[in-house]
Amino acid sequence: MEDCVFCKIVAGKIPCAKVYEDDFIISFLDIMPANRGHCLVLPKMHCETFLDIADKELENLVKVTKKIAKSLSLSIGNGSFNLVMNNGAAAGQVVNHAHLHIIPRFKGDRLRIKWSHKKYEDGEMEEIQQKIRKFM
Ligand code: 5GP
Ligand code: ZN
Repeated sequence: MEDCVFCKIVAGKIPCAKVYEDDFIISFLDIMPANRGHCLVLPKMHCETFLDIADKELENLVKVTKKIAKSLSLSIGNGSFNLVMNNGAAAGQVVNHAHLHIIPRFKGDRLRIKWSHKKYEDGEMEEIQQKIRKFM
């Protein structure tokens, strides 16, 4: 897509610190990392969210993500990392080209990724469970 920053990176119009590339997937360092080594992994073909990624492509994306997470852990990391994907504006997605974040974690890095916990009212959990199951 013309005005998509990640499409421009894929096309080589914007430079990036590439860590992986094949015909369908690219991974590079996030320019404003949550921690050192923070990688982004994405399908080269423009699509907006997780739901738009074709199943076959998703399979490759997950496999490549695992490969990169492993390599990150063996190099500058230590085996602790968060796998994050923001889908949609309300979820904090800023770049509308679907991508996964691999964020290496270090003891005491004070990064805040964990959420606070809410509570269900009586019967609400079952109601929501049924609603979700209906659309499967
Ligand atoms: P989102 O909030 O959409 O899940 O994350 C977008 C990420 O892309 C952000 O962490 C941001 O730092 C990163 N980013 C935005 N523009 C560029 C860029 O031009 N180059 C690189 N390497 N990362 C970018
Ligand atoms: Zn794009």
